Amino acid sequence: MRSTRCHSCAGTVRLQRPRSYPYRESGLTNVVLLGGVEIEVCTKCSERTVTVTREEQLLQVLALSLLRKPLGSLGGAEMRYLRKVCGLTQQGLANMLHVRRATVADRERGRSTLAAEGEFVFRAVVLETFSQRMREKGVSHLDRHHRQELKDLRAGFPRLPLQESRRPRKATRIPRTDGSWRIPRAA
Ligand SMILES: [Zn+2]
Repeated sequence: MRSTRCHSCAGTVRLQRPRSYPYRESGLTNVVLLGGVEIEVCTKCSERTVTVTREEQLLQVLALSLLRKPLGSLGGAEMRYLRKVCGLTQQGLANMLHVRRATVADRERGRSTLAAEGEFVFRAVVLETFSQRMREKGVSHLDRHHRQELKDLRAGFPRLPLQESRRPRKATRIPRTDGSWRIPRAA
């Protein structure tokens, strides 16, 4: 049962279901959730408790959404996010990319930018590692349509669309419908 009293001050808690929510808990600044979030706010002490529905699935769907983005559009924080979803350390990824750990760290901090060729190789490693992980027992929270999307991503991988450099980076908006997090069509 949902408590209607604040845990800290016993004040009245009000429930909010925002239509859009900037999902900064992901470590990314440009991800917006459309639905699927409940916020309990205490009317007395303003304490907030945020609950994200099926968050394990969301984290994996977010990875799929990033992998759908055009080549040349991944920022450092997004590369860090993808590495972590794959369960890789910076050293582990560096070994797979045949670079030094410091190179991976610099890219993730945005100290060095990656040319399209470098991002292509990074994506190939991430896509393969992520796919392997999703086949491990008890790891995947993906629904059937997500698994199909992953299959399509792998099948179409060598032909990635290129980011038009002048276009500003758009936020990744992830809707939740029919009990499942959705991969945005125009990522
Ligand atoms: Zn309170």
